[in-house]
Amino acid sequence: MPASDLYEEFRRLSKATPVVDVHNDLPYQLRWQLHYEINEDKFRFDEPLVSQTDLRRMKQGGVGVQFFSCWMDYPSPDELYQDFERPNSIVRDTLEQVDIIKRLVDKYSRSMKFVTSADEALRSYQESNGDMISVTMGVEGLHQVDTSLAVVRQYYDLGVRYITLTHNCDNPFATACTTVIAGKEDKGLTSYGRDCIREFNRIGMMVDLSHVSYKTMVDVLEIARAPVIFSHSSAYTLTNHERNVRDDVLQMVKTNGGVVCVDFVPNFIKKPDAADASIDDCVDHVLHIVNLIGWDHVGIGSDFDGMGATGPKGLEDVSKFPDLVVKVWEKSGATHEDIRKFMGLNVLRVWKECELVSEALKNELPVETNWSGRQWRFPKYITLCPELFPGAATAKSTPDMFYDAKRYTFKDVEGEYDPK
Ligand SMILES: [Zn+2]
Repeated sequence: MPASDLYEEFRRLSKATPVVDVHNDLPYQLRWQLHYEINEDKFRFDEPLVSQTDLRRMKQGGVGVQFFSCWMDYPSPDELYQDFERPNSIVRDTLEQVDIIKRLVDKYSRSMKFVTSADEALRSYQESNGDMISVTMGVEGLHQVDTSLAVVRQYYDLGVRYITLTHNCDNPFATACTTVIAGKEDKGLTSYGRDCIREFNRIGMMVDLSHVSYKTMVDVLEIARAPVIFSHSSAYTLTNHERNVRDDVLQMVKTNGGVVCVDFVPNFIKKPDAADASIDDCVDHVLHIVNLIGWDHVGIGSDFDGMGATGPKGLEDVSKFPDLVVKVWEKSGATHEDIRKFMGLNVLRVWKECELVSEALKNELPVETNWSGRQWRFPKYITLCPELFPGAATAKSTPDMFYDAKRYTFKDVEGEYDPK
């Protein structure tokens, strides 16, 4: 079919089949450029913006389900910093990202709906005849849970539907690909990371393997009880970047039933001439995955407004998704069903399967493991409280856990705290 007819076909298909983009970093732009001030006319998402994402271009692009990223950088100047117990504001900052996504959807509620399940994401889009964009969220790195599985559970309750195991830094759960690039050992998934995967599967949180090291990918794929995603990663064989997916891992993704959502960042799809990257390179990455493991395991993870530069030629912003779909279609001769899977149905299937696995595991208890490196600290006066049952406190206590609590008045006058 000639390309002009394929555009027609795309428009027809897209009434019932959303483009599902699994990674967009617009929320971080709202943080650093606006300090989250979007009320009234301070910020108009329905007018043209200079960035890669705005409402009109999302509609031109056929976007029907958008995962906005709640990414926060690691609060250390050293990407490979190892003091995970250092006090930081990462959970507050992540909650601010969650909050701005929900506020943005509220402000433009005629065009966007916040959704919490795969069925709801598809239904809302289809019932509006492709007019309503379903919005959900991903958190980009387990450093954003600050060593605590309780935070993972609460993010899920807030509507976060995937967490990337690492960003560009190791954490108590897993090794990042940047560690390997820095010449350090690839330790893969830690034992705490294994507990975390168990908990993700139990609650229905999708495991995202973008950014992680090769060994982390393999370790997770060996134990995952539900399909995994790569929210924004391309094919290693075509572009040798550590964060891209090697062919043997792609085979494991096929067995696992997961999905790799191709990233558009020029540096990840063309090396060494990233500046020349174009939509055709992106098509090649999609088709490499398809040729190796079939149409059931490929999707879209644009990374728009997180790439720090312009997109590849022909794939500059969110309005260009139809061009990508049509080029993939033209070059592959895919069936309508295959193209629909690539547009977004694969991602929705994986999301739904994670929900079903969680449903099947509903009799499993929450994982209570704490990170072994955690330093518990308490004010000394707390030991005046009676034990819950004999030996409860002493079994968990060491003398260095307790500190002398001081109390400061608003005048900064220091005094002993009197609990009575
Ligand atoms: Zn990323």
